[in-house]
Amino acid sequence: MPRLETLAARAGGPPAPAGGALAPPLQLATTFEHTPDGRLPHGFLYQRYDNPTQLETEQVLAALEGARRALLFPTGMAAGATALQALPPGSHVLLCDDSYFSFRTLAAEQFPRWGLECSIVDFTDLDAVRAALRPNTALLWAETPSTPRLKVCDIAALAAIAHGAGARLLVDGTFAPPVIQQPLALGADIVLHSATKYLGGHGDVMGGVLCFAEDGGHAAACHRLRLLGGATASPFAAWMVLRGVRTLAARMDWHCRNARRVAEFLAAHPKVAAVHYPGLPSHPQHALAAAQMRGFGGMLSFEVAGGREAALAVAARLRLFTNATSLGSTESLVEHRASIEGPGSPTPGGLLRLSVGLEHADDLVADLEQALAGG
Ligand SMILES: *Cc1c(COP(=O)(O)O)cnc(C)c1O
Repeated sequence: MPRLETLAARAGGPPAPAGGALAPPLQLATTFEHTPDGRLPHGFLYQRYDNPTQLETEQVLAALEGARRALLFPTGMAAGATALQALPPGSHVLLCDDSYFSFRTLAAEQFPRWGLECSIVDFTDLDAVRAALRPNTALLWAETPSTPRLKVCDIAALAAIAHGAGARLLVDGTFAPPVIQQPLALGADIVLHSATKYLGGHGDVMGGVLCFAEDGGHAAACHRLRLLGGATASPFAAWMVLRGVRTLAARMDWHCRNARRVAEFLAAHPKVAAVHYPGLPSHPQHALAAAQMRGFGGMLSFEVAGGREAALAVAARLRLFTNATSLGSTESLVEHRASIEGPGSPTPGGLLRLSVGLEHADDLVADLEQALAGG
């Protein structure tokens, strides 16, 4: 079995029969020839059901995650919502407290309509996780590293807790794509990625994927929901994700190195009150991150001494880091998360989140240096 870097670099290969092309083809057909009595000699019926480009991308992502099956969606939220909607009504979901803000909003606004119960727990406290289990707990929803505080939770320990309670563990691994973290190998049942981020990698495509350890009932229910609900990725989006994956390993290596440089610079700066980056020895779960990850990723956050106003001033003075949401693209981004999350946000006012891109690290550090020095 080739290594992950090799699988990623040749995603969509070997050469297609037509002309021996090395780059994967983009198949836009909405419908596929079947027999008069409805059998599928080519395996496909209609683009919304399954289609060749989507399937190609799913097979590559499944191989990278060590999954039995992967399902692609038009966005990360569609992937996550489908995994939740496929649970039996009356199920209880344990959501980690530092999960992506839209999932916490989804739980608050939509779970009651879907017949789901939810508790929000700090997943770095395993006793609190055990105490929150209920007889109807069906899913533990972890995010590691998490946004915006870069908390790292113990995937193997959470999987053991989930399985002991007859539940599944889903890991939102968007911050740590498969070349740096493989949750299924640690016992997780499902991995979620917003492919909009590192898998696509260039800030020009949206996508989401669910990767399943078992090709069982939950995966089948998610596929059925996608087919009937219509949350199929467009072939073009699937193809863009496939294309992004070809450079994933090289990009992640550079993202990780740049983020470490930026984190070390910030940690030593007198105007910085705290830096949240799992690669720093001062991070509370640094040892765990070192054990369960192959790199610490390109995301970090830091708290500016002086709180909200000081943080907003720093964000306004940055030139290379663009004020924009999202992450995982080639260009570096900064975001004052409390402003974006709105009035109910638990995020500290002094916190700025950075998506460290692929520029030269010296330029990134110089930009932060001038922004922190003040106007
Ligand atoms: C962006 C993001 C999502 C949602 O993905 P979309 O593609 O924007 O729908 C989910 N989880 C995490 C951690 C994210 O960063």
